[in-house]
Amino acid sequence: MPLEPKTTPYWWDHTPPATIEPQPLPRQADAVVIGSGYTGLHAAIQIARGGRSVVILEKGVPGEGCSTRNGGQISTSIKPKLPTLTKRHGAETARAILAEGVASRAFVEDFVRTEGIACDFRNCGRFHAAASPRAYAELARIADGENITLVPRERQREELGTDAYHGGAVFHRHAALDPGHYHAGLLTKAREAGAVVLPETPATAIAESSGAVTITTPRGSIVTRDVVLATNAYTGPVAPWHRRRVIPIGSYIIATEPLDPALVKRLFPTGRIASDSRHVVYYYRVSPDGRSILFGGRTSAGEMGAKAGGARLREAMCALFPELSAARITHAWMGFVAYTFDELAHTGREGRIHYAMGYCGSGVGMASYLGMKAGLRVLGDPAGETALMRPEFPTRPLYRGDPWFLPAAVTTYRVLDKLGL
Ligand SMILES: Cc1cc2nc3c(=O)[nH]c(=O)nc-3n(C[C@H](O)[C@H](O)[C@H](O)COP(=O)(O)OP(=O)(O)OC[C@H]3O[C@@H](n4cnc5c(N)ncnc54)[C@H](O)[C@@H]3O)c2cc1C
Repeated sequence: MPLEPKTTPYWWDHTPPATIEPQPLPRQADAVVIGSGYTGLHAAIQIARGGRSVVILEKGVPGEGCSTRNGGQISTSIKPKLPTLTKRHGAETARAILAEGVASRAFVEDFVRTEGIACDFRNCGRFHAAASPRAYAELARIADGENITLVPRERQREELGTDAYHGGAVFHRHAALDPGHYHAGLLTKAREAGAVVLPETPATAIAESSGAVTITTPRGSIVTRDVVLATNAYTGPVAPWHRRRVIPIGSYIIATEPLDPALVKRLFPTGRIASDSRHVVYYYRVSPDGRSILFGGRTSAGEMGAKAGGARLREAMCALFPELSAARITHAWMGFVAYTFDELAHTGREGRIHYAMGYCGSGVGMASYLGMKAGLRVLGDPAGETALMRPEFPTRPLYRGDPWFLPAAVTTYRVLDKLGL
């Protein structure tokens, strides 16, 4: 009988969540960051290096949320296209928002190189596969022969060991890293800079008064001048204004056992990360050690457990890559990503609460970048400004943070995918 997959992330095998000696909750700090993912750690690094005291509250283990669970794919991150952004926000802001996508990806590369964070950062590019002829035509429209190059169906096997797609395009600027090592490196940098990290310490209430904020936790309360809310899809009742603006959606992912290197080479001849054009997207890659395939996506209208989700993902993976039918699945895990009603990440300040969230499933670059920006704004540094502060952070009437409409939306998208629309 095959062994059951682990439901902890593949990355946790080599980088288990850090154990931090219990420390008392300080009564006061210049700033408090809520959440210890990429957003929170990058904000804290800036604040601490700017000479302010900063405490990071984390309700679980360090990096409990998406930042140690993701696929490690780095894109240029902006989902709405230029015409949509121009219509909504005007030409200048639209271009500035797209430029922030490119800047976020460059920021991560610069940061890991300058700080010497060993996280297998690779400028590998992405093969984005067209799931329909229509999607291929759309890729042909945006291909520029330099940053985005087209791969017709007859040359698809040069990129990916499957015939299931209608060609695709290589996005040369996209990159990859090992999310476990990246998070561990950031945590070390934040602590070296002086940030106090308190795991198992949820913020349960935030009370603003003139010039100060009191944050309550089960271990007592802490008074601060500035708060950075870095809770993304895990934003709970403690921040109702923000919770009404993010839509938590489960993203599921599996890892295969180590495979024959010749098979890996046949399936991923160029070693690029990959994704496809479906509305309900699949994304996949080779593990940093070159031995396993990591395959992620969403497999059902409603949420399900990691194991059940993993079993369905395996079917989808084998449909694309029949050669993987005999491969054992060693890990099946999930986490919640945060969508927004306009498919943009948002950052800004509401009262004394700075925030950055809503990365719509592409946060390795953008969460890092907007966390850094939020940290700079706490310091009063104008370099913390970003075009992503300009659009209003939308919500919808009756939405309180429980996405009751999600199963219907996912079902509709699946139908569109089946029809190739
Ligand atoms: C399976 C999966 C695959 C993904 N793959 C990719 C990918 O390949 N590329 C990509 O770009 N993005 C990917 N993402 C998305 C990406 O991981 C996230 O966008 C990014 O990590 C968000 O970082 P964050 O710091 O904002 O949030 P998180 O890392 O989710 O951190 C939020 C933290 O806040 C804590 N928290 C919440 N409430 C409280 C409270 N009241 N008190 C204290 N702490 C609290 C949570 O415990 C959590 O640790 C993926 C996500 C998942 C789940």
